[in-house]
Amino acid sequence: MASLLARAFRTIGKLSLATTIGMGLVAGDALAQQATPSPGSAKAVFGAVTLPTQGAPQSIGFYAKGCLAGAVALPADGPTWQAMRLSRNRRWGRPEMIGLLERLSRDAARNDGWPGLLVGDISQPRGGPMFNGHASHQIGLDADVWLTPMPRHRMTAEEREALPFTTMLAKDKFLTINDKVWTPAHARLLMRAASYPEVERIFVNPAIKKKMCDTWTGDRTNLGKLRPEYGHDSHFHIRLSCPAGSVGCTPQAPVAAGDGCDKTLAWWLGPEPWAKPKPGTKPPVKPREVMVSDLPKTCQAVLAAPSVSSARAATFGVKGGGSAAETDAMPASGNTPPGQIPQQ
Ligand SMILES: [Zn+2]
Repeated sequence: MASLLARAFRTIGKLSLATTIGMGLVAGDALAQQATPSPGSAKAVFGAVTLPTQGAPQSIGFYAKGCLAGAVALPADGPTWQAMRLSRNRRWGRPEMIGLLERLSRDAARNDGWPGLLVGDISQPRGGPMFNGHASHQIGLDADVWLTPMPRHRMTAEEREALPFTTMLAKDKFLTINDKVWTPAHARLLMRAASYPEVERIFVNPAIKKKMCDTWTGDRTNLGKLRPEYGHDSHFHIRLSCPAGSVGCTPQAPVAAGDGCDKTLAWWLGPEPWAKPKPGTKPPVKPREVMVSDLPKTCQAVLAAPSVSSARAATFGVKGGGSAAETDAMPASGNTPPGQIPQQ
């Protein structure tokens, strides 16, 4: 059983590699693409680690330049969430991040007419740069959540690899929301996510921000946390501030006061961010590949530190760890009858 599963996942892994490379380009957060990192690069080294370190959680460095110790995993399934693209092994984060996702999923299901979350990438087991898809997500305090509601049935691992992203943007119109897919529940979900004090900012497409500015009639106190950004039209990106007392976590400047429905948004809706480089201008110099030695020094110790005994042992909310047979079982999802929740 275990080896069958393992083989299935190797196959899915190979298949998904091709699709993720293509998909990453359209999936937002996609400014840091490199399909084949050099051996020894931070992307290659952190991408090859399969388990987190033992011990207390520690976010080291900055969201876009750092690593993570003591990560825990979001269970692949919960009553109000399903983790996606399991083959990527990126459902690791600080306990604060994982706890927040679970709470958001419950609150949104209870109050906002959003049946559950499809959770995308969080971080790698020891954080660090990823070979595709994101510049940040390196210290366990960033998570992507799909703007697609969770389906009623528990998806198989294969479905979670293959389910396509649904953009909220209208085709053939400049930065315009498609009102056939966007619903008031989307707006409530975003404002629910922004309502938690530990959530510092949420990245959304500029068209989504505009839609929120134009239509949100409730309390606008937290609307300023929604930050316009490239991509982010089929998922949104939750970023937590450095938790209190987390030494080594480099904070980001707080968001400006106000709802953000101002000239900063107007800039995003103007031509400048989307302008093609003028003919004859030199292409920007490609930045040098990030090596492990470019990250905070502590990250080398994080790479060398002993692993937890199994993924299950470090899955958030699992009591007493798991048996060896369950160690590399990513999702039990395909074989789980609806209503029965594995890894809880
Ligand atoms: Zn993201």
